[in-house]
Amino acid sequence: MKRGMDVLVVGEAAISGTPRPIAWELLTAARQVVDAAGGTVTGLFLGSGIAAVAREWGTAGADRVIIADDPNLDGLMADAAAAALTRAIAVTKPDVVLIPGTTAGRDYAPMVAARLGTGLAADCSELAIDDGTLTATRSVLGGRALTKIRFLGDDPAMMTIRPGSFAKAEPGAREPAFETLQVPFAPDDLRMEHIETSPKGSSVSRLDSADIVVSGGRGLKEPIQFALVEDLANALGAAVGATRAVVDAGWRPHQEQIGQTGRSVSPRLYIAIGVSGAVQHNVGMQGSDYIVAINRDPDAPIFKIASFGIVGDLFEIVPALTAEVRNVKT
Ligand SMILES: Cc1cc2nc3c(=O)[nH]c(=O)nc-3n(C[C@H](O)[C@H](O)[C@H](O)COP(=O)(O)OP(=O)(O)OC[C@H]3O[C@@H](n4cnc5c(N)ncnc54)[C@H](O)[C@@H]3O)c2cc1C
Repeated sequence: MKRGMDVLVVGEAAISGTPRPIAWELLTAARQVVDAAGGTVTGLFLGSGIAAVAREWGTAGADRVIIADDPNLDGLMADAAAAALTRAIAVTKPDVVLIPGTTAGRDYAPMVAARLGTGLAADCSELAIDDGTLTATRSVLGGRALTKIRFLGDDPAMMTIRPGSFAKAEPGAREPAFETLQVPFAPDDLRMEHIETSPKGSSVSRLDSADIVVSGGRGLKEPIQFALVEDLANALGAAVGATRAVVDAGWRPHQEQIGQTGRSVSPRLYIAIGVSGAVQHNVGMQGSDYIVAINRDPDAPIFKIASFGIVGDLFEIVPALTAEVRNVKT
């Protein structure tokens, strides 16, 4: 690879129209590469009606922002998004392309890699510069092992990044140059059309964008005790999450499951109640800004990643905490 690495990072918007958490996280990842290796960060924001949010997003870490704002990009259907990203790569000639590991990103990333005749590393969670080359780490074998890979050759190193793997960059840090990207969409090439995306209306749909997530695990003992988690979540205005153990037991819907086989979240605050902190759970929430764990076992693995830990009986601590939150708010 040449000296310095120019990184192209893709941003997507959430249903609310604001950048998805992963969009901010990818700017952190891109800056990490460029700070270590030299080069520039170009942000490409894809979507329809996203020009204003793209501008704010770019200030969190890009040197240059390319805005692909086109009705054809509504809902980020794979054909359209692949056409836009392929065009942006042709224009910017990056060494590294970081793509959100979202449903949409996982659709269009392989299409672009195939068009360029290059490889694609899916679900990367750590990046590093090692002996001047880029390496990425990914979780494999059901989360029981981490594998490290090195990118060789001159083709762009393309990868999707697992949501929640990097801290979120804050807007206002840089003053990037902005430009728009014209994509020559060929109508016959667009094989899917976005009809609508509607919120599910429950706390489930809020998990992705919630500032606070309160999660419960098997330590709650029985499904009815999950009311403790819900009460605290309601008091804090938080979304509710769950471990696989309680989802498998039928206490909570699968949409609430956090972790390797569930959702990845990266709120400002994640409160884990009666959760042991298995690696398969932690990969879905360790990107949270602050993690508070309540567990009666002082050796529970959750305390290794917690910013604050409370060792004790959740049945005493959680109601007291909920009452205190309500007190403070009134
Ligand atoms: C391939 C694979 C994929 C997986 N994917 C996921 C995933 O996506 N998400 C996920 O969560 N898991 C996943 N798992 C399961 C994971 O390995 C753990 O089994 C699971 O996370 C444990 O859930 P838990 O913390 O609720 O239960 P436990 O591990 O049983 O932990 C319960 C905790 O509650 C504490 N406790 C008990 N009583 C109290 C009390 N009164 N007060 C305070 N604390 C108390 C205990 O000390 C304990 O630490 C996966 C496993 C595999 C093999």
